[in-house]
Amino acid sequence: MLQIFYTTATPEEYQRMGKNFPFPVPDSCPNPECLVKVPPQKHSFYKRNAIDANFSGRILIRRYYCKHCGKTISYLPTFCLPYFQYTVEAIFTALCHILNSNYSLRSCLKLLKYLGWAPSHLQFYVRRFLNNLNRIKVGLRQLIPGTRLPPDNQDKR
Ligand SMILES: [Zn+2]
Repeated sequence: MLQIFYTTATPEEYQRMGKNFPFPVPDSCPNPECLVKVPPQKHSFYKRNAIDANFSGRILIRRYYCKHCGKTISYLPTFCLPYFQYTVEAIFTALCHILNSNYSLRSCLKLLKYLGWAPSHLQFYVRRFLNNLNRIKVGLRQLIPGTRLPPDNQDKR
């Protein structure tokens, strides 16, 4: 299972620290079907890509293993999105350019030249974002109670 932990480190700083990064240390199993009050054991690392405007490289992801439920828990830094090699910042910037600033697809790709995306790549993120708006709203309401979001009947942009 994946856990996301908050860090102010940039991908470059995170990579530079390697195994010396102060990874979170769980004091109990985060698996909702287990939750045993025994710290999961360190279970090595795996490498994944992280790409944004200023960084492109492999970073280490800390894993733990719970011997009670047999689950492996991976800790992703906040700048990573699960299953996406581009960082939150890269994808957020792209979505802002095309949805908020109303740039055309072509001018948006020009602004994001450093990412080397094809039009279909950018359209994929836009589709994923718009198709998940309801989930995103639910998440935002849980994270920021009382937050005001645009009404559902408005243009998705
Ligand atoms: Zn467990």
